[in-house]
Amino acid sequence: MDFFDLAAVFGKLESTTKRLELTDDLAKLFKEADKRDAKVLAYLCQGVLLPDFHGVEIGLGDKLTAQAIALVAGKPIKEVEASYRKSGDLGDTAASMLEKKTQQNLANSSLSVRKVYDNFYKIATSGGEGSQDTKIKLLAELLSNSSPLEAKVIVRFVTGNLRLGIAEPTILDALSTMAVGDKSLRPDLERAFNLRSDLGLVAELFINQGIEEIHKIGPEPFFPIRPALAERLESAAAIVEKLGRCAVEAKYDGFRIQVHKNGDEVRIYSRRQEPMTDMFPDVVKAVRVQIKAKQCIFEGEAIAYNDATGEFLPFQATIQRKRKHGVAAKAEELPIKLFAFELLYADGKDLTQLAFKERRRRLEKIVKKGDVIAPADYILVKTGAELEKYFDTCVGAGLEGIIAKDLKAPYTAGARKFAWIKFKRSYRGALADTIDAVIVGYYEGKGKRTKFGFGGVLTAIYDEENNRFRTIAKVGSGFDEKEMAQYKEMLDKILVKEKPANVDSIIGADYWVKPQFVVTLNADELTRSPMHAAALGKLPHKDEGLALRFPRLVQLRTDKTAKDATTEREILELFELQKRASSIVEGGE
Ligand code: ATP
Repeated sequence: MDFFDLAAVFGKLESTTKRLELTDDLAKLFKEADKRDAKVLAYLCQGVLLPDFHGVEIGLGDKLTAQAIALVAGKPIKEVEASYRKSGDLGDTAASMLEKKTQQNLANSSLSVRKVYDNFYKIATSGGEGSQDTKIKLLAELLSNSSPLEAKVIVRFVTGNLRLGIAEPTILDALSTMAVGDKSLRPDLERAFNLRSDLGLVAELFINQGIEEIHKIGPEPFFPIRPALAERLESAAAIVEKLGRCAVEAKYDGFRIQVHKNGDEVRIYSRRQEPMTDMFPDVVKAVRVQIKAKQCIFEGEAIAYNDATGEFLPFQATIQRKRKHGVAAKAEELPIKLFAFELLYADGKDLTQLAFKERRRRLEKIVKKGDVIAPADYILVKTGAELEKYFDTCVGAGLEGIIAKDLKAPYTAGARKFAWIKFKRSYRGALADTIDAVIVGYYEGKGKRTKFGFGGVLTAIYDEENNRFRTIAKVGSGFDEKEMAQYKEMLDKILVKEKPANVDSIIGADYWVKPQFVVTLNADELTRSPMHAAALGKLPHKDEGLALRFPRLVQLRTDKTAKDATTEREILELFELQKRASSIVEGGE
């Protein structure tokens, strides 16, 4: 299959927000492609070379990329850099500088999807001495055979600027449409994707062997399962009303990990399926000693604690364990306890479909007593008062709150459902939860802040159906002086010239950035606002969106990508919760 056809769809992605059209174009692409290319095509659409759990990233620096462009254009590197400074996008620079050159080449050769993928893969995996030259040559080979549009897409891909790719739901819709002309197979395909986190595998199996094979997919060690997520409700009473008699577990404010074990081999993945085995040698050792099953997949919250006092440490301490260097020393300084809360697979059996009660029973059976791993603290409650009491105990012990769990519900991989309901603090009147928002721009400082060149950030929530970021708050408070300098430095590395195409914003920013960094924000409440694009068109007043009132920065959330930010749907739900909570207060309860 020609790479040009894929590049054309990417080109369209930039200029259209019409998801239906894009789905149809993609469906056509999958239909016309050689069946052997299905896997590669799915990955390229996602903007990745392999699923995140392989840990293979292309991330070629701007400098090497510019050198490859210079080589092919036959121009000095300075000229490429000057053009880049002007355009602000290395992809555009490649397209314009290679235009003449590529037109001469066009008649001779056309790039195949497979060839592009193979070179990308070699660029990502070549290392050691001389590898920089190898990478430049591999990229130059592609560029010298590509049209301007292909060159633009190739450069954006290798520099990580296509990282957001096409949203997964759109790709799943396209696969279904390709086969049956509508989206009816999406839930089946999505189930398989949620259990394996590998869209290439799903596309390949589906296109080559049909939906029957997709139905046979279950969990398997070393394929991370996409995480189940919790909903929110406004009060303990509302939770018990929704779930009836239910389980309530302590909510530990640490780092969610998924542990896979097959015999002696143990691997650990983060909430967003990155490989983390090397960062937790202490957990790996404990799994070998404390877990009785030969094969299993379980989840838990890893939380750092103070060995002397036994106290749990805040998230900022635990997150320091996420590192590549100095692992052993940090493990000693910040030992981890792992509170296991889900068993998803054990000795050949898929447990995701069992009721929570049964999963929890089996989880308790496979964990031997020991120093590192223990099942999460848990009680059964029948009334709101019992739940409230347990919540107070947890908060008193320095925990974040509780998660209530529906005793009868299966594990809802990859979805936010009422099978789990989180309850963090007294919700009355105030915003029911912190928000995880994506930084899309920043402001120069005024007054005292002029010297930092940083006055705050413009943040957005994520509309997952349409793959768009919609602004919700300008945040200027919560940054100390050190943080202002740090944020400026961090954001200056991802500046873009104009508002990114996938950002909806009514107000401007002094500097726009790639939607990449996620920050946790606190605020007094959600208010309707004509200035922000979040939920715009979804409220009774069509010209109003939602904004955070008095937003303040809590922390940078390095364990989340832009797509893990709070979604527009959640914001609308939080707005509803807020209305219900304030009516409780007004009603004098
Ligand atoms: P938050 O910012 O509130 O942690 P989140 O977006 O990371 O939210 P949620 O689904 O909203 O995820 O909340 C569930 C999170 O709480 C899990 O991802 C997990 O990291 C953490 N957690 C702590 N203790 C438990 C527990 N006992 N059971 C399930 N999740 C738990």
